[in-house]
Formats: sequence, structure tokens, C-alpha cells
Amino acid sequence: MPLWKTCASESPDIYATARAVEGLAKARIPETGVSPEEAYNLVRDELYLDGNARQNLATFCTTWVEDEVHKLMADCIDKNMIDKDEYPQTAEIEARCVHIIASLWNSPEAEETIGCSTTGSSEAAMLGGLALKWAWRDRRKKEGKPHDKPNMVCGPVQVCWHKFAKYFDVELRQIPLSEGSLHMRPEQLKDYVDENTICVVPTLGVTFTGVYEPVKEICQELDRLQTETGLDIPVHVDAASGGFVAPFLHPELLWDFRLDRVKSINASGHKFGLAPLGVGWVIWRDKKELPSDLVFNVDYLGGNMPTFALNFSRPGGQIVIQYYNFMRLGWDGYRDIQSACAENAQYLAEKLAELPELDILYDGNGALPCVCYRLKHPDKAHYTLYDLSERVRMNGWQIASYPLPSDMEDTVVQRVMIRHGVSHDAVEQLYWDIKKALNYLDKNNIKWSEAGPSFSHG
Ligand SMILES: *Cc1c(COP(=O)(O)O)cnc(C)c1O
Repeated sequence: MPLWKTCASESPDIYATARAVEGLAKARIPETGVSPEEAYNLVRDELYLDGNARQNLATFCTTWVEDEVHKLMADCIDKNMIDKDEYPQTAEIEARCVHIIASLWNSPEAEETIGCSTTGSSEAAMLGGLALKWAWRDRRKKEGKPHDKPNMVCGPVQVCWHKFAKYFDVELRQIPLSEGSLHMRPEQLKDYVDENTICVVPTLGVTFTGVYEPVKEICQELDRLQTETGLDIPVHVDAASGGFVAPFLHPELLWDFRLDRVKSINASGHKFGLAPLGVGWVIWRDKKELPSDLVFNVDYLGGNMPTFALNFSRPGGQIVIQYYNFMRLGWDGYRDIQSACAENAQYLAEKLAELPELDILYDGNGALPCVCYRLKHPDKAHYTLYDLSERVRMNGWQIASYPLPSDMEDTVVQRVMIRHGVSHDAVEQLYWDIKKALNYLDKNNIKWSEAGPSFSHG
């Protein structure tokens, strides 16, 4: 039976048409179409059923933009990033962003160095990792040594590094966490690195907790190991969130190209870079860090455009907005926004610390603008943080609960991410909703039975 043929006469009201009454097609293209207005209304209505993105404090990604960004995005809807020939100015804007970000990260050759936009930090991590794998393999080949067992060493990394390791056949050596240490400690490195280590990947803004891994100390330890063993192991920093926070809030912190050992860095433009979803960045310290046989040369405008990417066609709007943000906000604007987020996160941490049920693990000071906590007495409580997530969801809040990675899988934590557009009053309301939910859970014997609600870590 073809869909939507059952209605003899069309109602003038959108909610009384055959489509509205019978429901939209789920698995088969309908036989006939409808007007744009009707299609727009019906499809938009599906979106009501999503959570409210502004109250989603599980995500790191941009959920608020100003009106001009909507306009520019619409202006860019037909621009394909890969068509450098047809849209040379979009390509030029991408190149400007690369150099602006390289200088933000103190590249010694910011105006010269190489880098590119990606769909996010995940693609950027793949490219950064591939470059390091290639460089390691070239080195091993030259030395006439085996090059079939590459590994990478890291702390509690985001899932993209597990993907990189699996897709590109690299052994991932993740240094386990322990009570009182929520990131890799430099002195642990010596037990994990060897001649097959393509890189060490510290995270600036660990996904699970929001803390920074100590990049400087990690580099110093690798310097020491080089003196001791001759192993010269490069560092790639996953600065997905921290790459657009640290330069503004922690300018003295040494984590970027000021450290010689840092060869490449990735960040998500669509997180604290404040661009809409779909843009990341990877930058190399200087041109020689990117093995040339990974770069494909595409002819354009009589010149030659080197490209290094996993995708071909890709939208250009997010990149144009990244540039818009740099022009619109300037350094001061970014600093103001990130410090407003940090203040709100620190305020929330102070309030939550007053609740006897919670134990604050990270209070929003010194790294990402977020709060991470666990139950103080999980063994005595007759509820879990998954129950708390579910309870505050009744007020629209989406807050991630998840176990920490190895060796602390028994510790379940919650993380509240404060982003551009999360106001002081929103934070205050969230605090009261958490407090109310905890009171309810304290009084009512609810035990979460199954795996619990799951929110993304991104
Ligand atoms: C979010 C995140 C990623 C993945 O970034 P996408 O832009 O979502 O692909 C990688 N690493 C860290 C540390 C992250 O926080």
C-alpha cells in the first residue's frame, strides 16, 4: 500500500493531512512528495523529540551561536572544501586559520608551517598518528630495522585513539590510572616506551575528567630517557578541547610547540574553538614533520594544492565560521568567553562540594571549564550516578555518567561541561535540580538495574 494515498481530500491544516495523521515514512521513500512548508514542519517536529542541546552538559561541542553565524552558514551551504579551484577564497580562509592556530600554539614557523582542517579531532588524530607512523617506519627502514610492530603510548585517551590504533594497526599502550592520579604520570613512561613507539600522546583536557595531562613533564621525562637510552620519541598532543582553552586561560602553561618534542597537535574547532559542528584542526610543528608521501597534490588554479585528508567532499561553512570567530572575538573575546565558562564551572564545583553525597574530583580550576565528581560512598548508597543522571533528565539536563578507564573501572563519575552559552543562572538551577534529585534518591530506594542511560563522551 503506497503511503499517503489513503486521504481523499487534503486538509488545509498541516496537522490534519494524511502525513500528519498516518505518520511519516520510516523505511521506504513515499510515492509522492509534499510542499516544502509541510515537509519542513513535519521533519522539524521530529526534532522536538531530541534532547534540548543547550541543556546537554555532557557534550563539549558548540550548542549556541549568534545570528550572524546562522547567516554565514547559510551563505556557505554550497561550498565544498575540496574544490580549492572553484572556491579559492574558502581555501585561503582555511590556510589563514591554520596559521592563526599555529601561532596560537606557538609554532616556531607559524606563517610557514603545515596543517589542515578536518571534520573534527577524530580525523585530525588519525592524520597526526599516520604522520608519526610513517616517520617512524621511514626511520626504521633507513636503519635496516624491523618496522612491523609500531605502538603508541598514552594515558586515558578518547575513543578516537583506540580507533586510530585499530584501523592503522598500531598497538595502543594505555597507562592505567590509579587512585589519586587521574592522568599518566611521567615516571610511568619508561615501562611503556621502546624502539617501536611511534609517539606518546598526552591529552590536554582528558575527556573523562577535564584535567590536563602534564605535557611539559612528559617531554622532560622523554628527554631524560633519550639521554639514557638513545630513544628519541616524538609527542603529539590531543588538545581537542584544551587547544582553545589553554592559550587564553593558561598562557604560561607549557604544552604546545614551545616544547621541541611536540611535533603535532590536534583540536576540535567545534568544541572550545566555538565553531559549529564539523571542524577540527591538526597542525605540524614545521613542514618536515609531515612525511611528503602522505600528501596528495591536487592541481588548482594553475598551482598545486597539497592535501592530506581522509575525506574528499566536505562542507566549508564551519571553517569559514572558525575564521569569523577569530575576527569577531579576537584574543580578548576568546579569553572572556572561556573565563566566563571557567568561573561558572568553578562556582558549580563549590556548590556541589557542599553536598555530602558528592566527592569532587576536578573543580574547574587549572584545566577545562567543567566539574567532575563521584559519589562519596557508592557502596553505602542505594542508588548510583546513573540514577542521578536519569533523575535530572526530568528537568531537561543531560549529564554524562560513566566508569573511568583502566585501572579505575569501578569508579563511576559524572562530568558537567560548561560551554559558551551556559549562564550563571543555568548553573544555579542545575545545582538545585541535582540537590533535589539527590534528596529524592536518598529517600527512595531505587537501584539502577541495567547498564543505565548512556550519554556520549564527546
Ligand atoms: C572530543 C574529543 C576527541 C574527538 O573529537 P571530535 O572532534 O568529536 O572528533 C578526541 N580527543 C579528545 C580529548 C576529545 O575531547
